Amino acid sequence: MSVSKKLRFKMVKEKKCKDSFCPFHGKTKLRGRVLLGNIVRAKAHKTVTVVINRKKYVKKYERYEMRKTKILAHNSPCIGAKLGDRVKVKETRPLSKRKHFAVVEVLNESS
Ligand SMILES: [Zn+2]
Repeated sequence: MSVSKKLRFKMVKEKKCKDSFCPFHGKTKLRGRVLLGNIVRAKAHKTVTVVINRKKYVKKYERYEMRKTKILAHNSPCIGAKLGDRVKVKETRPLSKRKHFAVVEVLNESS
């Protein structure tokens, strides 16, 4: 595996797939934001729901509160992320009505 410094994730080279939405073997290009999150739902075909947690500072209490955002991300066959995985997602063009991110890396493979 080679690490792309510009895109900040590992490129999948061993496995190949014929998925046109795949960020590595398809025609879809990656751009925009890179986010880290956990998969909370993986029932839809080639799609996973990723929850992204972030902190928001509350001035009145001088503390942080947790906020979460749910996004849909494309899970191509060569990546094969599963439920409960911690993943890195990167923005793409809109792939469907609500899906405009693609999973680029599974981060908990070694553990
Ligand atoms: Zn692929």
